[in-house]
Order: sequence, then structure tokens, then C-alpha cells
Amino acid sequence: MEKIDWHDRAIRLSIDGRAFINGERTWAVGGRKFDNLSPIDGRYLAQVARCEAGDVDLAVSKARAAFEDGRWARKAPAQRKKILQRFAELMMQNLEELALLETLDMGKPVKYSQSVDVPLAANCIRWYGEAIDKVYGEIAPTPAHSLALITREPVGVVAAVVPWNYPMLMTAWKIAPALAAGNSVILKPSEKSPLTALRMAELAMEAGIPAGVFNVLPGFGNEAGSALALHMDVDCIGFTGSTRTGKLIMQMAGQSNLKRAWTELGGKSANIVCADCPDLDAAVSAAVGSIYFNQGESCNAPSRLFVEESIREEFLARALKMVPDYAPGDPLDPDTVMGAIVDGIQMKTVMGYIESGKEEGAKLLVGGNAARTSTGGFYVEPTLFDGVRNDMKIAREEIFGPVLSVLSFSDLDEAVRQANATPYGLHAAVWTADLSKAVKTARALRAGTVHVNQYDGDDITVPFGGYKQSGNGRDKSLHAFDKYTELKTTWIQI
Ligand code: NAD
Repeated sequence: MEKIDWHDRAIRLSIDGRAFINGERTWAVGGRKFDNLSPIDGRYLAQVARCEAGDVDLAVSKARAAFEDGRWARKAPAQRKKILQRFAELMMQNLEELALLETLDMGKPVKYSQSVDVPLAANCIRWYGEAIDKVYGEIAPTPAHSLALITREPVGVVAAVVPWNYPMLMTAWKIAPALAAGNSVILKPSEKSPLTALRMAELAMEAGIPAGVFNVLPGFGNEAGSALALHMDVDCIGFTGSTRTGKLIMQMAGQSNLKRAWTELGGKSANIVCADCPDLDAAVSAAVGSIYFNQGESCNAPSRLFVEESIREEFLARALKMVPDYAPGDPLDPDTVMGAIVDGIQMKTVMGYIESGKEEGAKLLVGGNAARTSTGGFYVEPTLFDGVRNDMKIAREEIFGPVLSVLSFSDLDEAVRQANATPYGLHAAVWTADLSKAVKTARALRAGTVHVNQYDGDDITVPFGGYKQSGNGRDKSLHAFDKYTELKTTWIQI
């Protein structure tokens, strides 16, 4: 296979930072722009449209008009399917460009944007396209003089606001079920990673999604984001991001038109490894690999590792051997497995948590420093703290960086109690060869997904989302249609 020179490709890449409204590329109504810089080395990428309330009004009116005239909503599901399949195909045909844009924009290794982010995002779009002409309504068991039909209808104009850690994939998780169900969608990508969503909108249009049905408004959270959340003519908002912003989104939905508000928020996932773990190497490799994947910028990263005291030393010895494999490297080098942190602000946050871990008495076993500082980019060494207590800040708060906190336990019930002693409830894991213990522990863990004897098991067919302050609703699987459709009862007198 031809070895791609990503640096050369990056130099030749042309980037369009204009918004995408009603099927056209356009600058913001107010003419404001912002500079988009790469976290890889600080290089200038493009000027991006800084959309605000006026752009939101425009996009909502176009999305509403498209919804009302049925150019998409009333197409036969089989036709929407075909177009979404074509959209997914076009993403795969443009895989290298999309992967490069994603890497330049938010710093993840091109190895993964190429092999994980683009294929998973395209698969998500294809999957919902394929699903939509297989979803049936119901007939209720009402008395004989009546016929009651229960059908699902698109909710109308859907806003989606997404974060920067998996920009393309989070976009796909929102837009694919919403579009498949027949809604018009306005997506606001993070101001830190707007580029791939804009390119996806062009590909959607090329695939045949009509103008006005899928719009992308780049801009800031407290400008374009809040204008969407407060808008009186947006019917539903699908949000992925921090718990802090998620609370604001719910408030804004409530203080405006009570639009349906669905939130996918932060996490502080616990990974419990018992002494009877069936495969210690697999447990070590999952614990280390899953926290450092994507620079630790994953909502479901297993950031709290509970290891049974009797195997702690052995576990740590094996883990420490693996950590150097995750040393940060050039994200455009296809061999790099850990890239750049998204920007200087996030890097400062991560370094602040590392300082707090040291101050509160956790034992820094490896890492803890900035790396590759001469590049002008933002890199943090893979970091591991031992001797962490559950009441320390690094165990309580989401760091969103490559920092693993190790806590030990001798009583599994107590470990589960501590695992649950968090406002979050996104993912959790237990490793044990004892089936009854595994099932009992999985039942006791308060999380949207519980892994048993693995950590990265995932598929578009299963729901993704959290308990407690990790959010409500679920992305992925057929359950995502619940968020973007209304249930209608039609009662017919016979
Ligand atoms: P963030 O909350 O700062 O921003 C997320 C999005 O919200 C961005 O588009 C931002 O511009 C927008 N926003 C910010 N303030 C806003 C406001 N006042 N009104 C409307 N919109 C606003 O989060 P982030 O730093 O971009 O992302 C990291 C967070 O996302 C982490 O907490 C992570 O756990 C979470 N996340 C969760 C999932 C999940 O599925 N549960 C997936 C990925 C990321």
C-alpha cells in the first residue's frame, strides 16, 4: 500500500471555514470570523465563520421551511435510506481528506482518524439509513369499535451541539438518526474542531440530502450554541459535551419553548480488576490503552482503576512497562499512537490536575510533564498516579487528559461503593473469572455501560449514554430514534 506523506498533504490541503446554510457555503451574517489553529504545532489552518444569533435565525427558518414542505421528511424511508447510504459511501471515498482535517483540527493521530473516526462515522450514517425502512408502527389492543395506530413522526427541527474529542463521530451519532427519521438538522460543532462537520455537510448535499435539511453553523458556545438552545422554533436539541454545559442546555430548553433536550455528558469511569481476573495481561493492556487512547480525551475513559490489593504490585509492574509505548508523537506520523491535546486551555487544565494529584499526596509513578514543547503544539506525557484516594480531586473530577489514577481495594463491595460514589455514571468495568461475581457487580455498578473482562467492546447496535449527571437519553442503536421522533396515537372510530 502507498505510504501517505501526510505533511505534504497538509500543505496542499485547501480548507473552507464558511458555514453551511440552506445548501450553500456562506460567511456569518455579521461577517465575524475566528482563526482556527492546529494543536499539532500551532499552525494556522483557516478562518472560520463565527455564527451568532442572526445565523441561527436564518438556519432555523431554512430548516423549518424544508421540514414543512416535506422535501426530506415526506420522502419514502427507502429513498432516505438510499441517500444516507450514498452519504456514507462519499465519506469513505473522501476518507483521507476527512482524516487529515480531523487530525489537523484537534490533534489526534492520523492513524486513528483514518482507521477509526472516519469509518465509524460513515458506518453510523449507513446503519441508520439501513434501519429506517425497517421500523414499523404499532396497533394498540383497544376495544373492537376502534382502531388505534401508534406511529413515529419526526420531531421537526433538531439542533445538535457537539464537542471536539471525536468531532466527526459525535456529529454522526447525532445527525444520522435525526436525518434518517426525517428531521431537518442544524449542527454546531465545537469552536475547537469545526472542519470535518463542514466538509460532511458538503458530502451530504452531494449525496442528495436537499438544501436546508442539514446545516452546519460553526461558532462559539455562548453565541451560536446558546442561540440554538434558546430558539423558540427549534423542536429538539441533542447535546454532547461537559456536564456543566449540559445543565445550561436543559435550563435554556426550559426557559424557552421546552424543546426536547437530550444530553450526553462527562464521565469518571471506574475499572475494577479483581485478583481472580482471567487474563491479567488483557486487563493491563485495556486499562492502559483505554485511558491513553485519544490522549485521554474520551468521555468513557476508565480514569479510576481499582485493583485488588493482592495483585496491585504485579499489575503496576506490567502497566509501567506499557506506558512508554504511548509517548506523544507527531500526529501526522502514521506510527504515532498518542497525539496532541486539543489546545493550550485544555493542556493547562490537565497540568493543573497533575499538580493537584501531587499536592494531595498521590504517588506519581510515571509522566506528569509537558512533552514536545519545541513543536509549538500541546502534548502531555502519559501519566500514572498510584495511591489515589476516591476523595482526591483527580479521582472526583473529569480530567479529560492522559492521566490514570490507581486506587486499591481488598473488599469488592467497598470498591463498588466507591466506584458509584461519583456524580457521573457513564461506563464501568469489572474483571473476574467468577461469573456470579461478574453479574452481581455489573448489576451493582450505576453506569450506562458495564464492561466485563474487556473495556473497549462497542458497536453501533448498542446504546451509549449515562446514568446520573452523565446525561439522559442514548446515542446509537435503534433507541436513538426515541430522541428524534414523537409518538403519535391516531384513534379511529369504526
Ligand atoms: P463543552 O461543554 O465545553 O462544549 C461542548 C459543546 O457545547 C461545544 O460545541 C461548545 O461550543 C458548546 N457550548 C459551550 N457552552 C455553551 C453554551 N453556553 N450554550 C450552548 N452551547 C455551548 O464540552 P467540550 O469541552 O467540548 O467536550 C468535552 C466534554 O464532552 C467532556 O465532559 C466529555 O466527557 C463530554 N463528552 C461526552 C460524550 C458522551 O457521549 N457522553 C462524548 C464525548 C464527549
